[in-house]
Amino acid sequence: MDWILKENIEELKKMVLKEGWLAETLFNQALNSLKERDEKSTKIVLGRKNEINIMDMKIKEKALVILSTMMPMSKDLRIVIGSFVISSYFQMISEKSLEIAKKTLELIKEPQLKPLVTIPEMAKYALIMLRESMRMFADQNMNGAENICERDQEIDDFLEEVRSELMVYMMENSKYVKRALILLEIAQNIEEIADQATRIAETTSYIITGKQYRCFNDKLYTIDSLENTKEENS
Ligand code: FE
Repeated sequence: MDWILKENIEELKKMVLKEGWLAETLFNQALNSLKERDEKSTKIVLGRKNEINIMDMKIKEKALVILSTMMPMSKDLRIVIGSFVISSYFQMISEKSLEIAKKTLELIKEPQLKPLVTIPEMAKYALIMLRESMRMFADQNMNGAENICERDQEIDDFLEEVRSELMVYMMENSKYVKRALILLEIAQNIEEIADQATRIAETTSYIITGKQYRCFNDKLYTIDSLENTKEENS
């Protein structure tokens, strides 16, 4: 009976990683289409919406079958629950990537507002965070969790930078407003993708240790350390 459970958990992990790989691919492709202002590749990204939903549904179905028929315990149980949760994060990342593609289509109808500098830089960091969080889950190893958490703060700072850069354009000329707003929405999507990568790192840390973790400001906390911080501040 035990080997059946192990085999099913391995299968579930593979499914989650495959979903993660799809999310990463979509994010990467959406970013390239944005950089190159390429309508054709943007539409290819948008054509993959179904794939994302099917993968997420299959993972949830599989996790529920394992839970209801194989009674996993301790770490096995955490992997099953964690996979269920992480699947939603990957789905969200894919959907945000599709949002970026949709906005890119709108953006390329108009002349280029300015060469993109900060957004690709921000995206590079978000992509690194996503890859790191996937590696944590694949290897079931907590190394890298703190880096991901620190980067989350950097991404928030990048978003502020993008916001002020675009504000200058918007104030300069009202005909820039529409394009600046689209770019700002894209930057917000990238920030949200980085947030999901952080959630994946937190959930993976929970799977590994059995403890809840939260990234707060740029530090990773357990319940105890967060409570102590609260007392220090009060
Ligand atoms: Fe954030």
